Amino acid sequence: MLVLSACSSIQTDHLLTWVRADDGAYSIGVREVPELDDAIHMTGELGAVTYGGRIASRADGGWVYTGGVKLTVHAVVMDLDEDNMGTGESVAVPLDEDGLLLYTFYANLAAARAEVEARGVDTGPMFPMDAAWNPAVNPLIEITPADNAAYATGSNTFLLLPDGGDRDVPLLANQGALIHEFGHAIFHLLTTGDPFSAPLATDPAEESYYWQASLHEGFADTQATLLLDDPSFIDASIEMPERRVDDDHAVLTEDMLPANRLEPLLDDPYPLGTVYASFAWDLRVASDPDTAYAIVLDAIARWAPSRASDVEGTAYLQALLQSATDAGLGEVACASAEARFALLATTCPTGPME
Ligand SMILES: [Zn+2]
Repeated sequence: MLVLSACSSIQTDHLLTWVRADDGAYSIGVREVPELDDAIHMTGELGAVTYGGRIASRADGGWVYTGGVKLTVHAVVMDLDEDNMGTGESVAVPLDEDGLLLYTFYANLAAARAEVEARGVDTGPMFPMDAAWNPAVNPLIEITPADNAAYATGSNTFLLLPDGGDRDVPLLANQGALIHEFGHAIFHLLTTGDPFSAPLATDPAEESYYWQASLHEGFADTQATLLLDDPSFIDASIEMPERRVDDDHAVLTEDMLPANRLEPLLDDPYPLGTVYASFAWDLRVASDPDTAYAIVLDAIARWAPSRASDVEGTAYLQALLQSATDAGLGEVACASAEARFALLATTCPTGPME
């Protein structure tokens, strides 16, 4: 075992991290993360993780991250043989839980980027991106004790927090939670074209603000459930039956409509988001995860909101119905919309668009 002082760097492609198995079980194991160049200071091609600093609101409605300082992960290099989870490679082994969470974040972000790129999304504009470990946060970013990761739109920054609960799998180590947060980054990129721009809808007095919040959560959960093919990815960390997408509980009700939600500090965007994510899961059940994800991406491109007033869930659902119809899943999509979105006035497409 070689102990390195903090001013050195650790340059090995192998990190000890939390690992999610295909069946959704978590353990600690070795992963290859060539994207991380320096495992002491958390720098690499995805970007740098820095400590502290501040995430504050910007005049245009986006966020900005400033003041982060160079980070030190206390870690050692060990040669782990097969009996000790390793492959005989040199492995960077963090000496505390914070380091384990940061290594897991980097490994999961690298994996999420690769999965999304493989499905045709150009994530180039957002990398390298910042990640802020334990920053001070503007109170308007609603962070609850159940949150350990977030994406701050406009700053193109991941916000990472130590584990706030005594969980078997810390939320920040939950691969689905990271793919969800990365989903916010993707949805922001696809709807604005610029990771550093403000969101389209920034006025909490307008319905578009609440549509945006819920469509964001809906896409984030869609991405997490489909890329992991797991309808209840959060449960490994926190039991949240209200967020699972593979049953019929998620149905749009009056209280979820933005017209009835014009109170930003008390707003809960998730219930409506779960309806959209459950709609996408219905497509997955009738096809496969990649087909369902491709339909959603196609629908966002078709919807193409360009101003706040475009951020509205009926037009988006109509785009989803057309994209599903084009993919040969019109019947399933229309049945799902009828069951889950009866309050929205959409029409079932008559056939594929030319
Ligand atoms: Zn979210």
